[in-house]
Amino acid sequence: MVSFEEVQAAARQIAGVAHRTPVMTSRLLDAACGNQIFLKCENLQRVGAFKFRGATNAISRLSAAEKAAGVITHSSGNHAQAVALVSQLLGVKATIVMPNNAPALKLNATRDYGAAVVLYDPATDVREAISQELAQRHGYVLIPPYNHPHIVAGQGTAGLELFEEVGPLDYLFVPCGGGGLLSGCALAAKHLAPGCRVIGVEPAAGDDATRSFYSGVLQTSHNPQTIADGARTGSLGDLTFAMIRHYVDEMLTVSDDDLVRTLAFVWTRLKLVVEPTGVLGLAALFNRRYALAGQRVGVILSGGNVDLVAAAGWLQTTRVSS
Ligand SMILES: *Cc1c(COP(=O)(O)O)cnc(C)c1O
Repeated sequence: MVSFEEVQAAARQIAGVAHRTPVMTSRLLDAACGNQIFLKCENLQRVGAFKFRGATNAISRLSAAEKAAGVITHSSGNHAQAVALVSQLLGVKATIVMPNNAPALKLNATRDYGAAVVLYDPATDVREAISQELAQRHGYVLIPPYNHPHIVAGQGTAGLELFEEVGPLDYLFVPCGGGGLLSGCALAAKHLAPGCRVIGVEPAAGDDATRSFYSGVLQTSHNPQTIADGARTGSLGDLTFAMIRHYVDEMLTVSDDDLVRTLAFVWTRLKLVVEPTGVLGLAALFNRRYALAGQRVGVILSGGNVDLVAAAGWLQTTRVSS
């Protein structure tokens, strides 16, 4: 498992490269959720998501020979953009394996950062197999999206900064896909505020982490249909599963309708551009999916790369009160 010292080392490694994102509060949001909410705004991170933290920590630690060989990864979007930008900044060649249903915004941004994109069909192909085959054939170094100690430590710096800024919290709500962000933030929380309960939140359509957490056996979701595209991962990794079992207190799910109602509030009332996966944690509180009142609650808003054309469709299918 990753140690807290590795999160601290990651914070030093990414200092001056990754943004120290702001923590936002809103009395309107507090009233809507019935708690005092502290939003860690990773939608304002470079590339628009916390993934820049892990990618910077992982790629900048490669040897000169590994950097010369180039890197490869598989991702539905934000990790792709992060690896692409970090590689560009460090002069490393990057190849990204992306699903053909990834949002156009994320595909284009990845190409714009200078990476070579290889598309696959999530209905029929296994992305890990494709990137491993290419890595072997060309000698690229694989930068996994979540199941890697340097990635987990890097993502944990978001939690580290939140506690440094606001002090102890009663609860921390964190989005969960492959579990890198949740693992790192839970680790930071348990060191900096041992009494803080850490809750991981994932989309109901892809509830494999919740099932894994409560059964103790790694479960999978095949090509889950949810607007939370950053959490369409098939399963936790062995590292993130072990860390989540050890450091996380509870896991829960929210529906896509919960996400849309939360997005509408965040966009219009808080003036924050956040993507569906980014509000997983907040949606649990905003839609009262977890009984909680009068507590100091940290929430990671994990990303802001929202596809506006798709968003117009979501607003039409979910009743949103204005
Ligand atoms: C990747 C991603 C997640 C999930 O992170 P994991 O480390 O895979 O659990 C959550 N939100 C956004 C915006 C993401 O890009």
